[in-house]
Amino acid sequence: MGEKKILVVEDEAIVAEAIALSLKKQGYQVVAIVTNGEEAIETAAQTQPDLVLMDIVLPGDMDGIAAAETIRTRFHIPTVFLTAYADEETLKRAKLTDPFGYIIKPFQQKDLYVTIEIALHRHELETKMRQALEIAEQKAERQTKYVSIAAHELRNPLSAIVGSAQLLQLNSSKFDEKIQLKCLDLMRYASQSMSQLIEDMLVIGRAESEQLKFNPAPLNLKEFCCHLVEQMQLSAEGKQRINFINSSKKTVAVLDQRLLHHIVSNLLSNALKYSPNGGEVRLEVEYLEKCDQDAEKNHQLPITNYPIVIFRIRDFGIGIPKEDQEQLFEAFYRCSNVGEIKGTGLGLTIVKKAVELHGGAIAFESAVGAGTTFTVILPASSQTQH
Ligand code: ATP
Ligand code: MG
Repeated sequence: MGEKKILVVEDEAIVAEAIALSLKKQGYQVVAIVTNGEEAIETAAQTQPDLVLMDIVLPGDMDGIAAAETIRTRFHIPTVFLTAYADEETLKRAKLTDPFGYIIKPFQQKDLYVTIEIALHRHELETKMRQALEIAEQKAERQTKYVSIAAHELRNPLSAIVGSAQLLQLNSSKFDEKIQLKCLDLMRYASQSMSQLIEDMLVIGRAESEQLKFNPAPLNLKEFCCHLVEQMQLSAEGKQRINFINSSKKTVAVLDQRLLHHIVSNLLSNALKYSPNGGEVRLEVEYLEKCDQDAEKNHQLPITNYPIVIFRIRDFGIGIPKEDQEQLFEAFYRCSNVGEIKGTGLGLTIVKKAVELHGGAIAFESAVGAGTTFTVILPASSQTQH
């Protein structure tokens, strides 16, 4: 940990110099000495000290207590008050600002040191607690939002099922077999999309609560990809053709198979789905033992721990509009150009979580009407532990 930075607010020059000297001796860095409240606030904003040592009685309109209050609320910087005397009223006001320490002048060097150290420690703990609380609040907010969107998303397929069932029940004798099959088909499709949504929500829920674990094991990349491509090709119903290009001799990497399945299947499913006019979808896999300048230039992702595996999923479909690109990985986000293409906007959220659990990175390039390329880079050795 580096030197702690302290701002001294004291209007008596000799006292201020003595304090600064004493602080420096004890290993602190004195960022500035200022003489009034306004200056204290300005300098705190500029220098962002770890602590302010503040005289209570200061010249000008603002005393030390008011300045400390502003510095605390605006910048979350703790204050230790320094004072030669204090009447009951001043002490009461000081207490209200929740000071981190109080030193009566004249003071011993040791007292100054102990008070500052306790204040810094308390502030560090409070900062950690505040950050943890903020993260927990954000998580709770996200979860509430997810639950309400998911409930809404479940409503559509559920009403399709209920509607079709009622139609069949009331009119089955009047319907010919073709219409009956259509109703059943609709019900089957709606049930499938409900179950997919629930499955995706569970994966995201597990990731949010840190229950989605990273379990790396040696994996044959070629076999894994061939198998997945075969499966996905079936769902494409012959409209699009998936080409698997494996450009490395080494085929075994240490990865989490379940998470990798989420990554590649979601990206392939998107590439197929968002190429409604058919055409080629490409899955390229490359294993890099060590840094390769050309490959670095190509993917432009910050990777330091080799070996890595690069997955590139390329399509020539509808593309992703520029204005949608920033929010692409947000849960339930769907781009403005999806038209009638169905989806819930959860696939990429899952992909991102699975990439993060691997300690990897993801990026994409896209142009509307020309297609999209997603690049995923994963560290390929078991040293990556999370
Ligand atoms: P699902 O949860 O079923 O995957 P989805 O495909 O809509 O639904 P994501 O996979 O998270 O959700 O993708 C989010 C959005 O990003 C999509 O709705 C689509 O607008 C856009 N998108 C993703 N991949 C592509 C792609 N290859 N080409 C064009 N748009 C894409
Ligand atoms: Mg998707």
